[in-house]
Amino acid sequence: MKSTSTPKVGFVSLGCPKALVDSEQILTQLRAEGYAIAPTYQGADLVVVNTCGFIDDAVQESLDAIGEALEENGKVIVTGCLGAKKGADGQGLIQAVHPKVLAVTGPHALGEVMQHVHQHLPKPHDPYTDLVPPQGIKLTPKHYAYLKISEGCNHRCSFCIIPSMRGDLVSRDIGEVMREAENLVKAGVKELLVISQDTSAYGVDVKYRTGFVNGKPVKTKMTDLVQALAELGIWVRLHYVYPYPHVDEILPLMAAGKVLPYLDVPFQHAHPRVLKSMKRPASGEKNIERIAAWRAICPDITIRSTFIAGFPGETEAEFEYLLDFLREAQLDRVGCFAYSPVEGASANDLPGALPEEVRAERQARFMEVQEEISTARLQRKVGQTVQVLIDEINQDGAIGRSSADAPEIDGLVYFEPSKTHKVGGFAQVKITGADAHDLWGDAI
Ligand code: SF4
Repeated sequence: MKSTSTPKVGFVSLGCPKALVDSEQILTQLRAEGYAIAPTYQGADLVVVNTCGFIDDAVQESLDAIGEALEENGKVIVTGCLGAKKGADGQGLIQAVHPKVLAVTGPHALGEVMQHVHQHLPKPHDPYTDLVPPQGIKLTPKHYAYLKISEGCNHRCSFCIIPSMRGDLVSRDIGEVMREAENLVKAGVKELLVISQDTSAYGVDVKYRTGFVNGKPVKTKMTDLVQALAELGIWVRLHYVYPYPHVDEILPLMAAGKVLPYLDVPFQHAHPRVLKSMKRPASGEKNIERIAAWRAICPDITIRSTFIAGFPGETEAEFEYLLDFLREAQLDRVGCFAYSPVEGASANDLPGALPEEVRAERQARFMEVQEEISTARLQRKVGQTVQVLIDEINQDGAIGRSSADAPEIDGLVYFEPSKTHKVGGFAQVKITGADAHDLWGDAI
């Protein structure tokens, strides 16, 4: 007899140890959410079948198990390796044989399986977690949110201790990332800021494994993720993008207005010897050429970067080289830190540590050069009309940001709001004035 109080899930687990781990994770999550596990088909409200698609016998065994579950219970969700297999016509093999299954996912798809379970067998009420909105608890204003796609980093930059604290790169499942993004959009978020330690490396650790986004196979890869985010119809801003060649592939999406024409690329330095000493990723890339190529595809792109002045061993000539790079690159937004020895960083042991005054003086010279560049670049916006996302309205007027401005770190756009403007909404603003950081204009 099925109980009406606690929803019960039947579970059939087939396949290798990796599939078994997937089964364990799904069962753990089901129990954690308050579902009961039913030992028989008849006692279950729904059945999950974790399949194997390795050899023909295993495929047949899986298909038979699905058929049996459909016959005995009727409500079946299929997961596992066979879920990713295609039939001769390119369609999913399982749907072709068993069209009545409720949903099919590939392997390692805990989040997706749970989403299907929730859809077909609502979650039991939990007084602790039910107060948490689907998008999670956010510390940012309602209209923008950070989307973290991975944790840790495979690089070992000599000034940085992040890998020793957070370990190597661990990419989140693309289906899970996209579900979070969709929930945020449903909750009213208008701008997603993609963050990680190395956004371009997303998926390297899982060999760009194929995940599932709304049932469609999508690779765990930055370019594929950006494509999927571009479909959400909101502002998508990319941070911590190293200039690897595959970054070029997302520029057409920026040019087409699908993703904000904005790249935050932490160059840190320009001189090859210093970059090598910093052990920077992509230090051998031809960055000036790459920037020129990006601008050729998307002339409106805003490029933000950060640099370190006064790195141990940096000569005056190497610093001048950096300033020349800056003048040539004409970056839009730039932050510069005087090198500071972080405890535990290997750069502290490098020879040629510079006195604090020299580090501070180089930082000031760097910012002076950049200020001129930023002023000139912002001046070019005067007379243009830009779309602005409104962050604040107070007695002095409205404060917002254009596609060129990430929250907290870039500039602002000030204008007089009309009655229809509201925080979290958009405005079209004709720019009338600019300084080195911010813009002023009139709403139109
Ligand atoms: S600075 Fe280097 S080591 Fe540190 S998180 Fe960034 S890429 Fe990784």
